[in-house]
Amino acid sequence: MKAGKAPAAPRLFGTNGVRGVVNTQGMDCEFAMRLGLAIGTYMKGTVMIGTDARTSNDMLRSACSAGLMASGCDVLDCGLVPTPTLQYAVKMNKVAGGVMITASHNPPEFNGIKCIDPDGTEMARSNEERIEALYHSMSFRRAEWSGLGRTRTYNTAIEEYIDGIVSRLDTAAIRKAKLRVAVDCSNGAASFVTPRLLERLGVRYVTLNADPNGAFPGHNSEPTPDNTKDIVDLVKAGGFDLGFVHDGDADRTIFVDDRGRYMYGDRSLALVAHYACLEKRGGLVVTSVGSSMCVEDAAKLAGGRVEYTMVGSPIVARAMMDSGAVFGGEENGGLIFPELQYCRDGAMSAAKVLEIVAKHGRLSDLLDRIPSYAQYKTKTKCPDDRKQDVMRALAATAKGDRVDTTDGVKIFSGKSWVLVRPSGTEPIFRVFSEARTPEEAKDIAESYKKRVEELVAG
Ligand code: MG
Repeated sequence: MKAGKAPAAPRLFGTNGVRGVVNTQGMDCEFAMRLGLAIGTYMKGTVMIGTDARTSNDMLRSACSAGLMASGCDVLDCGLVPTPTLQYAVKMNKVAGGVMITASHNPPEFNGIKCIDPDGTEMARSNEERIEALYHSMSFRRAEWSGLGRTRTYNTAIEEYIDGIVSRLDTAAIRKAKLRVAVDCSNGAASFVTPRLLERLGVRYVTLNADPNGAFPGHNSEPTPDNTKDIVDLVKAGGFDLGFVHDGDADRTIFVDDRGRYMYGDRSLALVAHYACLEKRGGLVVTSVGSSMCVEDAAKLAGGRVEYTMVGSPIVARAMMDSGAVFGGEENGGLIFPELQYCRDGAMSAAKVLEIVAKHGRLSDLLDRIPSYAQYKTKTKCPDDRKQDVMRALAATAKGDRVDTTDGVKIFSGKSWVLVRPSGTEPIFRVFSEARTPEEAKDIAESYKKRVEELVAG
């Protein structure tokens, strides 16, 4: 160890909280209680807590709450709620923060703990570092017997969240359109929210997997094309205006159009970006560097423009706050609506797309107006300690119209780009490209993969 520089404490929080397999990879009750002590020592006040639908939720919520109360924090338990429902409750109640027990879209054996800042956003990395330092040093605040925290139930979070969404929509237009939709709640947290929201909007609906069940009997909770076959079939067979599926904690939504076509997340991002810019007569849309050019095309068609950030929804949300963006999100179906809150919001995404369809026409027609591109993904090995050198060399020697080093190295040439990005968890580079045709996209990605391999070798 070099003098004067303390070793960095091992990182706990990833892009979306701490995650792990329950009871085998450290995601156990002892960990949750110790993390609860650290969070409580940092937050100092009333903390709202919620869970998704996993079998390990009661165990982890109880253990984490015990740690919070031991540090003197009162706990308001919101029960089984989508992550954005908890975030909205934290913001509206002006409490010291929130804790969500969720592993989002991971398989059922996983769970996780993520923290919410007092403004309802996913916790900023700098604040997570403070909690990590407290966790590792075990310098916890422990309240005296008379100052211990208490837990109370907070059972109006869902109602208030639905009210918040409904108040930001043109409900008359949605009602008048008499839409019929099919919705898949993935046996997750959306089950208690989205059907009620649709009723409030006067939308007729059929549900799939709308009972919370931590075994995920319907399908795993990541809304990939493989996991969404049932909703695609249902939309085709039932002649619905559209279908959609939420991930496990309902901060993301993936849509199926009226022709039964699965919509990748960057298509819904582009669609909503277009109408957000149209309504605001221009404005800024924020997304991360991996998003499709169709988002920029769709925003420009409505007089808007796009700003790119590093990958990660907390980063996108914060950039939106700083720049006064009209809309933002990521290509995985996580859309952020500043008029409601600065976080990904699955139910608001569904409601907003319903509003767009009600006002502007069939979803398939609206989508066909957005340019589409071919994408290609590959990866190549690189030792972690060589990644920075390789990226510097790649950026310095890249031939293209423009080189962007916001996150990895992104090289634009005409109507194509390639993004070479180091993995945060594995000794690899991910190489991701987009172009007019699948062949062109593949050629570009493969040639940069080769270039990276040359740089790694020598
Ligand atoms: Mg999620």
